[in-house]
Formats: sequence, C-alpha cells, structure tokens
Amino acid sequence: MTSSVEPRFLRVHERDNVAIVVNEGGLPAGAKFASGLELCEAVPEVHKVALIDLAEGEAIVRYGVTIGYASRAIARGSWVHEGLMKPPEAPPLDCCPLATAPPAPLAPLEGYTFQGFRNPDGTAGTKNILGISTTVQCVAPTVKHAVERIKAEILPHFPRVDDVVAITHPYGCGVAIDAPGAAIPIRTLRNLALHPNFGGEVLVVSLGCEKLQPVRLMPASELPVLAGEPSVAVLQDAKQGFGEIVANIMTLAEKKLEKLNQRRRVTCPASDLVVGLQCGGSDALSGVTANPAVGFAADLLVRAGATVMFSEVTEVRDAAHLLTARAATPDVARAFVREMAWYDDYLRLGGADRAANPTPGNKQGGLANVVEKAMGSIAKAGSTALVGVAGPGERVTQKGLVFAATPASDFICGTLQLAASMNVHIFTTGRGTPYGLAMAPVIKVSTNSGLKRRWPDLIDVDAGRIATAERTVEEIGWEIFSLVLEVASGRTKVWADHWGLHNEFALFNPGPVT
Ligand code: CA
Repeated sequence: MTSSVEPRFLRVHERDNVAIVVNEGGLPAGAKFASGLELCEAVPEVHKVALIDLAEGEAIVRYGVTIGYASRAIARGSWVHEGLMKPPEAPPLDCCPLATAPPAPLAPLEGYTFQGFRNPDGTAGTKNILGISTTVQCVAPTVKHAVERIKAEILPHFPRVDDVVAITHPYGCGVAIDAPGAAIPIRTLRNLALHPNFGGEVLVVSLGCEKLQPVRLMPASELPVLAGEPSVAVLQDAKQGFGEIVANIMTLAEKKLEKLNQRRRVTCPASDLVVGLQCGGSDALSGVTANPAVGFAADLLVRAGATVMFSEVTEVRDAAHLLTARAATPDVARAFVREMAWYDDYLRLGGADRAANPTPGNKQGGLANVVEKAMGSIAKAGSTALVGVAGPGERVTQKGLVFAATPASDFICGTLQLAASMNVHIFTTGRGTPYGLAMAPVIKVSTNSGLKRRWPDLIDVDAGRIATAERTVEEIGWEIFSLVLEVASGRTKVWADHWGLHNEFALFNPGPVT
C-alpha cells in the first residue's frame, strides 16, 4: 500500500524541526517527499522524521515547543525516536505566568439545543437511569444480584427508564476515613449519586457496620439537590435472610422507577451540557487530528454556553505554563498550579514522576515522552480562556472551559469526570480501546482511519480523515459538535452503548488503607 501512495508527512508548527510520517505502514529508506526530503532509514507510521541535520544537544521541536534534546547528532531524513531524545524538565510551577494572556471571548453560538431530562436542581440529564449507590464493597455482590433481578423483573414495566446502574467500588471500610486523602473518594461517591442522569432519585445500599455510613456519604446538607429522599437499604437490618434483603432493595427500587418513569425529554439549551474530554491509547497523530478536532468542538460548545472539562494531570503538567497564562483570572491560574503541585507531591511520595505516564503502546505510536504527549493532549482544550479548576471528585458548576484534576488512567478519569457531573464524554484514541461508561454516553474519536476501518463498530468518529486531507479540523470539529447534541438527545446511540461496553467505576483513593 505504501508504494502506491505518495510519501507524506505532517508538520504542526512552522518552528518544528521534526514531522510525522502519515503513510499507512510507514515508509522505507530512500522514500522521497514532495519537499525533496529523502529518508535515510525506514520510519514507522506516525513516527517522527528529522527535517534538518540536528547537532548533539540541539532542541527537538514539535508543536513549536521543545519536546526533547538530541542525545547524539541526527542526520536529516532520520527516524527520531525515543532512544535519541533526552526529555526536558517539567516547567517549574513557582514561576508560571498567572492569567497573562487570557484569550478574548469568542462570538456566542445561539440557538443550539438538545432533548434532555430537566432536573429539580437545574441540571439536565442525557439519560434516565436508576442509580444505586453503595457505601461499602461488602454489599456489592448482593447489589449485583438485586440489579440483575430488577432488570429482568421490574425494569420492563418502566419503558422510559434507560438503565439501572449500581455504583460499586472497593472503598467504604478498612480505610483511614478521617485521613486528608479520604475526602477524595468520599466526595466522588457523593457527587456520583448526585449525577444529572440519576434525576435526583437515588437509592443507597449500606451494610450497617461500615466506616462510610450513609449519613457520611450523603450528609443532610447535600440533600436539597435531590428531588426525593434517598432511600437507604441496610443489609444488617434484615431478620429473615437473603430473600428479605433482596426483596427490600427491589421494593425501594420500584418506587424510584415509578418516579423516574415520569421523566420526559424536553428541549434544553446546549448550555446544559457538561462535556468531559479524555484521551486513551494516544499516538503521535492524536495531537494533529483527533485532539485539535475535539478542541474545535470544545470551542463551539463553550461558545454555545456549555461546560467543557479537560483533565489528566500528568498529560497537561508539561503545558502548565501555557495553561496558567490562558486562565481568565490569577485566582484560576493559582488553583491550577495548586492541583499540579498536589499531584507532583503525590507522585513523588510514590517514588515516581510524570515520566511514568507514556505506555509502551504510546511509544510504538510515535510518542517519545510525556512532553510530546502533553502538547498533543492539550489540543483537546481548544482555544478559550480557562475559567475554572476543580479538585478530583469535585462537582463542576461553572460554564466555559474548566480543568477537573484527575489521574490520566481512563477509568479513574472517567469516574471522576462523572462525579464532576459530566453528561457527555468525548474520548480520543489512536491505538484503540473499547472503553465505555454506563452513566453517560462516550463518543470515541479515532486519530487514524486505519483504526476506524479495523473497528468500524467501536469508533464513532474518524478524525484520521484529517491526516489524509479528506476533511479539515473544522469539519470534523463540527461533526463532533453535532454528534454531541444527537447523542445527548438520545437520538443516536454511541457504539459503546450499542454493545453495552461499560467499564467499572474506579475510585481515586490517595489516602491510606488500614
Ligand atoms: Ca486517559
């Protein structure tokens, strides 16, 4: 296939001295580009080629920034891989520019709507789900048993309810529940229960003797945002065995289902969307195809008044100085620095740093190090001002572009973004993953067309058409924006929901276990 197609590379920024080979299967030694550049060795697909002779120690520039230094002289036309690059230091946090270059607001986009479920607290759901929260892992198998029976015996009588989702997890007991780190998993569980797709109706299942008591999970001060009282089933209250335990959960569930079944989709402004962005299985095309297209869609969503959140601390750490400059106010910039510093300490205590981020698959996909990955990753965040910062598991309430601090792990990030009240998820991938979430639809965007061809029934949008020049970044961006409105309205089902591919909840617990 490569021999019949003209050799092509993609260069992102005019200052770049490396570019990405985009031909499928890579290119052999001797391949000649239209610019006259000739490869002096084979370069794999989406890997970097040197556009000039690089001296030892010279900066290797991609995205207009230094992504590493040549560890020896590299001839023009060579494959520039991880083994030839020394990574730069992370930008120091104590001299980040604070809100020095906030972008001017873009023109508002009026009139965009979706069909969503209006909630008493003003939020809007994109699905109608019975949520069952749990206080402790001890109850998880019992809840799983009950949910199977609810789905088989009760749910068919309530056709307007989409699903029953149990929030099960390993937390709740055997943990130092008053340690500072415990605040994160506890508020994550609480905010998951308050998710807009649960409609303010939530059922809590408790064991009875656990450290995370129902009142601590859902303090009275939080209850006004719920439409009804959260009903609590306590397993240890049962006097007549497992049958009574299950029957009690099913009775409470039926009451909730009756209420949820009265919900109807109504026209909601696009500003009710809370769209979470994430990438997983990134490659060197992520930063030139899928992520810029998602970034364009993010700008459209912000212009339409929506909340757009990006996350994954280790993937933005190397761009910290760029993002603090983009903050709307110095306070937002300082909050961003605070989250970066907290995570630096968290990694240091674990004997690691942000360089632990890239995976073997990332590296095979042409990403030499975390700096290159970060520069591609932040393209998702578009070009608008950063207006808010949330800690891990906190609820996001601002409109506009918000940073919700999370680890980069797909499932932990997804769980924390759900806790932040994300009602649509956009996920970019180069290597491919069947990732999905039960609580909110996940739109998967491929960075390359080969992945979409291999997995036509898992990938929702092919941004690889940007690399092949069939589409522009703007065209794919509009396509993603339109799909978000369709999916939020329940008119289009994402592939993960079609197959029922829903990853487990994964809490972020930086606190000690006992
Ligand atoms: Ca991720």
